[in-house]
Amino acid sequence: MSNLFYQAHGRKPVLDQARGVYMWDQDGKRYLDGSSGAMVCNVGHSNETVLTAMRRQMEKSTFGYRLHFETEASEQLATKLAGLMPEGLNKVFFVSGGSEAVESGLKLARQYAVATGQDTRWKVISRRPSYHGCSLGALAVTGYSPLTAPFTPMMQEMPKIPAPRAYLDGLDADDTATGLYYADMLEAKILVEGPESVLAFIVEPVGGASTGALVPPRGYMERIREICTRHGILLIMDEVMTGAGRTGKFLGSDHWQARPDIVVMSKGLGAGYVPLGAMIADERLVTPILDQGGFAHGFTYAGNPLACAAGLAVLNEIEMQDLCANAAVMGNGLLARLNGLMQKYELIGDVRGKGLLTAFEFMGDRDSKAPLPASLNAHQRFVDLAYARGLIVYSRRTRDGTHGDHILVCPPLIVNAGHIDEIIEGLDASLAQFSQEIHADLKA
Ligand code: PMP
Repeated sequence: MSNLFYQAHGRKPVLDQARGVYMWDQDGKRYLDGSSGAMVCNVGHSNETVLTAMRRQMEKSTFGYRLHFETEASEQLATKLAGLMPEGLNKVFFVSGGSEAVESGLKLARQYAVATGQDTRWKVISRRPSYHGCSLGALAVTGYSPLTAPFTPMMQEMPKIPAPRAYLDGLDADDTATGLYYADMLEAKILVEGPESVLAFIVEPVGGASTGALVPPRGYMERIREICTRHGILLIMDEVMTGAGRTGKFLGSDHWQARPDIVVMSKGLGAGYVPLGAMIADERLVTPILDQGGFAHGFTYAGNPLACAAGLAVLNEIEMQDLCANAAVMGNGLLARLNGLMQKYELIGDVRGKGLLTAFEFMGDRDSKAPLPASLNAHQRFVDLAYARGLIVYSRRTRDGTHGDHILVCPPLIVNAGHIDEIIEGLDASLAQFSQEIHADLKA
């Protein structure tokens, strides 16, 4: 009996080793990490350069409390990150994970409003479905009912607009009219709530776990930027999953002309080596806060030198190996191959993604877009079939978590064409078995 209680369902094999894109359990079985853990391990497992940087830092110091010391590692990582951000986003605040980064972004936005005489602004609009973290503040902007429902009495729930799922609404995502249609829902919500009460809009540039690699329709991102600017509302880009090269550019939002006011990052920054996150803000937001005594916020482990040394080595690896470019090229190939699988298996109703953040969605009927019955638990069954074959993929219920199934295929950014072949072979074999089982269950 384990004393851990992460999951309600069964125990997992015990991890022994991991190298590059592969992992081995204690029985010697090999797995291809087709989801980079939870879209985390961007530079692959056991990268020697990162490990060396960590060893060096460990021999010097592993902790220096931020109110007692500055550290070289955190200074260097902050400088490196600021250099990778859009112009003007040069104030960096370190945390230990994605939810902490989101909380920090929300609170910085609010403290900026208070510091600049805009006390009426506190509402943060977000999208449904979306995922922004599990702490109560991050949960309040999360649009994903299975995770939010038990906790709603304990938090200030925030206004939501629909995520732009053109594929479900039968709209053409390449048509600018579609992008404007969804973006204008933000403006409508701002007007209903009262523009003077709205503080910020938080968005995943390419949707992650909750929507399954949802790429915004043409024109959407530019329009939301314009709407936020016009109403004096801050644009918070949740790059926890999309950041650090995952979509083929350093930030997911770098694909569009939609400069954020605040960026939050985590997963690919620590890349599985250390718990690390960052909130990076426009200097104009931070200056009035510092002038009035500082940010009323901070976590004990913030700027931990070991975490920062690892993060710096991760960013250097992304640069040295040109992993953004590799993610773009490999991602295009992967997407084309997933589309090929959609031709072969009618249960796949949609394929989408950008860079190495890709997904496919199961549907019971492609024309009506009807999901498979929730009782089939299709997404978990597919993940289990692939896992048995040594291929790790990540799944979630989509459509606000109540029904619909998508599978995220997001290998480390170091993959080559051979790895993509291997992933497709594993998916193909798993889909063949899955289709047989699901069709039998649907007939029964
Ligand atoms: N935002 C996004 C977009 C995420 O994908 C996640 C994690 N899946 C989070 C925030 C929360 O990150 P963490 O689990 O590290 O707290």
